[in-house]
Amino acid sequence: MDEKLIKKIRSAEIICVGTELLMGHTLNTNAGYIARELAELGIPSYRQTVIGDNVDRLLLQIKESASRSDLVILTGGLGPTTDDLTMETAAKAAGLPMAFHEESYRALTKIFERFGRVMTENNMKQAVLPYPAEILPNTNGTAPGAMFDCPAPNDEDPQHAASLILLPGPPSEVVPMFTLSVRPILEELAPFRFRTAYVHLIGIGESAAETRVKDLIDAQINPTIAPYASEGECMFRVTQRIDTDQDPDLLTPMLDELKIRFGEHIYEIGTRSMKEVAYDLLLAGGKTISFAESCTSGMVSSELGDIPGASRVFTGSVISYDNRIKRDVLGVSDEILSSYGAVSEECALAMAQGCRDLMKTDIAVSITGIAGPEGGSDEKPVGLVYMAISDSEGTSVQKMQAVGNRMRVRRVTTLQVFNMIRKRLL
Ligand code: AMP
Ligand code: MG
Repeated sequence: MDEKLIKKIRSAEIICVGTELLMGHTLNTNAGYIARELAELGIPSYRQTVIGDNVDRLLLQIKESASRSDLVILTGGLGPTTDDLTMETAAKAAGLPMAFHEESYRALTKIFERFGRVMTENNMKQAVLPYPAEILPNTNGTAPGAMFDCPAPNDEDPQHAASLILLPGPPSEVVPMFTLSVRPILEELAPFRFRTAYVHLIGIGESAAETRVKDLIDAQINPTIAPYASEGECMFRVTQRIDTDQDPDLLTPMLDELKIRFGEHIYEIGTRSMKEVAYDLLLAGGKTISFAESCTSGMVSSELGDIPGASRVFTGSVISYDNRIKRDVLGVSDEILSSYGAVSEECALAMAQGCRDLMKTDIAVSITGIAGPEGGSDEKPVGLVYMAISDSEGTSVQKMQAVGNRMRVRRVTTLQVFNMIRKRLL
């Protein structure tokens, strides 16, 4: 990228290429990822386009985007197959020839050697790249990325060119390429910087949370506060715009104010999710945990298992869907099951105690509830969930009434389970 041409990026847009995206077969996660990165970098991003694997429409789109934006980031269509056309089409838009790129060829051969696979003719295509261009190595796949300038076709100002950045399609390749090769360059070209903090809240709804800081939101200039709601929790993004290195820290006083207003509703200022906060507390306390899951049927265990290093705290679980398993494996008495039912305080307590005895963990958590859509009654409606936690200090139970469909009930329950663990360990 010629830094003389673009001092600061005033506007950016994203083009995602792939018929599978247009048809809804692949979820366009790259757009979200790149957009978040641009926002974090302080680069204004104004448009996102999805375009199929079609040269004519893609060429038109690149020219249109390049004529109005300083930066155009494309993803997808860099693969070896005939429907992967982004590289040559973008080169055409920029008026650049394609040339054999020795280094990329060598990188390709190495990848094929490493995996003991024979390189096919069409793979060679990935070493034929626009010239001149900055080629971005792909540490996780075969398709290199590229950066080059594209003069705006009808622009009066001959100095004006849009910078094109071409990234592969697979998210597992986009993220490392962006991190290693793109972000360092864009950091230099952003018109200003942003410092952002994320304040995560539990046990308070989005509208109630917003009401509590309405005055701050109304008065906001810098930093800005924005509420985000998600399933069962909400978050405030607090962002300070930084123009020079001499700017004072405005973020810390705002975070202090939010701490005063939300107190123990705040479970994290940072980027950790609820389960990560719970995991960190388990790890710090040297505690092991097990679960007896009924209505979540393994979801809590699976969520914990997603965290690298989970085995350091997580021992195992019983998915006790059927009452027979609650009784035969966890030792819940017939008496409890017939008098109070499987969805009851008594059953949750017995499940947690039984699980802790069986698994011999420091902590055991049980979950029993009615996920729906069937199985509810006036007395025990859909969404009613009991969860119990048992450790050396005793066993306690929590009742929750979740709202929503089956998946939502199970997900919100999972979130609350991790919150219950967090509160126990604080
Ligand atoms: P391509 O580079 O177009 O051959 O894409 C390779 C694979 O990357 C596709 O099969 C998709 O699974 C994935 N992919 C492409 N574009 C996107 C996108 N915008 N978001 C998420 N995944 C994508
Ligand atoms: Mg494709």
